[in-house]
Amino acid sequence: STVPAYQHRSMVMHSVGKVPLGIKRKGLRIVVTGGAGFVGSHLVDRLMARGDSVIVVDNFFTGRKENVMHHFGNPRFELLRHDVVEPLLLEVDQIYHLACPASPVHYKFNPTNVVGTLNMLGLAKRVGARFLLTSTSEVYGDPLQHPQKETYWGNVNPIGVRSCYDEGKRTAETLTMDYHRGAGVEVRIARIFNTYGPRMCLDDGRVVSNFVAQALRKEPLTVYGDGKQTRSFQYVSDLVEGLIRLMEGEHVGPFNLGNPGEFTMLELAKVVQETIDPDARIEYRPNTEDDPHKRKPDISRAKELLGWEPKVDLRKGLPLMVSDFRQRIFGDHKEQAT
Ligand code: NAD
Ligand code: UDP
Ligand code: UDP
Repeated sequence: STVPAYQHRSMVMHSVGKVPLGIKRKGLRIVVTGGAGFVGSHLVDRLMARGDSVIVVDNFFTGRKENVMHHFGNPRFELLRHDVVEPLLLEVDQIYHLACPASPVHYKFNPTNVVGTLNMLGLAKRVGARFLLTSTSEVYGDPLQHPQKETYWGNVNPIGVRSCYDEGKRTAETLTMDYHRGAGVEVRIARIFNTYGPRMCLDDGRVVSNFVAQALRKEPLTVYGDGKQTRSFQYVSDLVEGLIRLMEGEHVGPFNLGNPGEFTMLELAKVVQETIDPDARIEYRPNTEDDPHKRKPDISRAKELLGWEPKVDLRKGLPLMVSDFRQRIFGDHKEQAT
């Protein structure tokens, strides 16, 4: 038959979340690359809870087995140690492509965004799966438009220290659209803004994880530059909801997925102090090169077409992350004591 495998299953797809009581929904076969990571593992939890069969593909570059260990032994769950830079043969309905060296200290000199994305698109094309790329707000670079809309083309330095990530994701978006137009692959593109929550990498240098770990360890909070640069912080459960709505919906995107609540790094430090330790000190450090001055998503498109918007603001989300960090930093014993 010339009908892609995906279309045979489209009846199943569209019934997701709307299955009448008493009718058992047939589970989908879903690959999550990077599924042992921070965002991926939360997504996997939602898909498993929904009754799907999930294959996590991860090389444990920054991901951890602990993030998905609670699914071991479930026959609907599989964990593959695999680098997506190498070809991969699987039979699936959907591919959530999250694999990426996602933090400043890890993303240099790595072909994952280009070669890994190409392989996963090749896989999607061969089996007729729907492919979702997790791109990033970094495609807007140091934006000259504020807040950023999806129609903005960005202001990215092609040869800077962050370029491997920014340009890698821009190339990944290009490849995704080329496979869509050229090979008819069903694709979805999410541009994710700064996200935080439990299971975030402890020492990957991101600002929220740094501040929270520092405050818990009674170390000074390291503010880079003058601390007046802004970011908009999204709680991970809001992002996962957005990714699933995007995958199940009818629109290619790109869609900004982020929380429009904008904070300077000094304001973030203040929220961390209020949440963990009012006596936490602030220490200024030189900022990194090409650091974007401000970033805030315009989420009108996601609101209108996906019916999505974030529900958890920073002051509500941060405490949920702190208990996880406390446990991971001090272990169970100290957790009970504090
Ligand atoms: P993460 O580092 O926790 O997860 C990435 C996962 O990909 C890790 O488990 C890592 O081991 C795996 N991985 C890396 N290279 C791989 C390779 N070659 N083959 C197989 N697996 C590989 O990061 P995250 O925050 O969960 O990010 C997930 C996705 O969301 C990434 O694509 C990232 O670019 C995107 N994103 C995240 C944020 C954020 O704030 N968390 C913001 C924008 C975009
Ligand atoms: N690929 C893969 N799994 C598949 C199909 C393809 O990993 O099931 C890889 C393949 O090795 C190639 C890339 O995806 O490197 C692009 O595949 P495509 O078929 O689009 O390109 P071609 O092989 O025709 O150049
Ligand atoms: N930052 C900071 N202290 C830290 C880590 C980061 O002040 O310990 C700043 C960093 O310079 C940037 C902002 O926080 O302006 C967000 O950095 P992060 O790496 O978390 O995200 P991204 O720059 O990728 O948005």
